[in-house]
Amino acid sequence: MIDLAETIRTIPDYPKPGILFRDVTTLMGHPSAFEKAVDEMAAPWRETVVNQVVGIEARGFVLGGALAVALKAGFIPMRKPGKLPFDTISEDYELEYGTDALHMHVDAIDKDARVIIVDDLIATGGTALAAIRLARRANAKILGASFLIDLPDLGGADHLRNENIKVNTLLSFEGH
Ligand code: AMP
Repeated sequence: MIDLAETIRTIPDYPKPGILFRDVTTLMGHPSAFEKAVDEMAAPWRETVVNQVVGIEARGFVLGGALAVALKAGFIPMRKPGKLPFDTISEDYELEYGTDALHMHVDAIDKDARVIIVDDLIATGGTALAAIRLARRANAKILGASFLIDLPDLGGADHLRNENIKVNTLLSFEGH
């Protein structure tokens, strides 16, 4: 059986000193690893009605798109500013230096949609919390959030759980 953690490449000091960048493109490029990752991320939701999967740019698009098909759900992209062509709503979030924002098409969430949020990795949880606020403003019912990788030292998954969000993660790595 393939070990998913072994298919993820770690790049020290990228994009800046002290960060261990967990590069999931090597997992995605590996046919059986990608299939296993999507199967395992879908597993907790198989008995639940999920109407739409929200994926966060950019690696969340790849995993979220595959998960949406696996769960027979629609897919909604949340993108960085200036990328979506139609009217958007947005939420800012804090970075270590400065702020960033996520945008979503104003009509993307169906009425009373039951949605899950998907990204490759949760660190501080700032990105995922912005995605949750944005989906809630569009009246989505947030069923939970799924990530391939958790960095528990940064506390993001616990932060989401403290906000009563169900969080599923497949792999856990120490450090930043
Ligand atoms: P955060 O908002 O702190 O939870 O950061 C999560 C976002 O930043 C996700 O979109 C990740 O892809 C990216 N990210 C943060 N830390 C890392 C890391 N060590 N390796 C790869 N991606 C990361």
